[in-house]
Amino acid sequence: MRKILIANWKMNLSVSEGLTYLKALKKNANEVVIAAPFTFLNDLKKIARQKNIKLAAQNVSQFAEGAYTGEASAKMLKEAGCSYCLLGHSERRIYFQESDAQINQQIKNLLKYKITPIICVGETKQQRQKGLTKQVIKAQLKAALAGIKNVPLIIAYEPVWAISTFQTGKNIQSASLKDIIAAHNYIRSFVSGKTRVIYGGTVNPQNSKAILKLKQVDGALVGGASLKVSSFNAIIQNT
Ligand code: PEP
Repeated sequence: MRKILIANWKMNLSVSEGLTYLKALKKNANEVVIAAPFTFLNDLKKIARQKNIKLAAQNVSQFAEGAYTGEASAKMLKEAGCSYCLLGHSERRIYFQESDAQINQQIKNLLKYKITPIICVGETKQQRQKGLTKQVIKAQLKAALAGIKNVPLIIAYEPVWAISTFQTGKNIQSASLKDIIAAHNYIRSFVSGKTRVIYGGTVNPQNSKAILKLKQVDGALVGGASLKVSSFNAIIQNT
């Protein structure tokens, strides 16, 4: 099955590094998406189109337009060539206090411009230790998707404890295949057939094959291992 592989560059690289990266990106039958900083998007648009690579923004305003200093609207993202937009990434939730109500509004704004939202959900380490994983996922999905039905969406299961930058020490690990299957099955019980469910959290060239082989997993959101094109290429080629 065709999978979607999304590189989340976060606040890294420069426009010229991004262009060099896209030129070196190898493609196969999978769909490849680059989630780049806002200021890169227009510059990446042409080469992305030539190579059939889709662009994603890493965030969007909850407001449609107006006096909202520092924000970028869904309309602006469309103009900049975005097909997708990340929402509710744990870094946005933790560092910028983004709420599920905000995410709900962001989804509605994106859908007006036919940009597919990639909604990140997942529990923290403490929530997992208290046995709250399902409860957290359910609450995040219910609030984010209130009033939204039968539209194309992507849900990224990103357990916060499995994201590389939230882990300390040398032994950085993804969630187990068993945990990934359980969470994906659970998420699927809440969403329509049009929704793709993908995994994110320390996906790298060593573990990507096993994770992406799972029938429950429609793709991967890759952070740290997407910063070098050789490593993201290895994930693409592995799949
Ligand atoms: C992320 O932050 O979305 C992510 C998946 O990061 P990493 O692959 O580095 O764990």
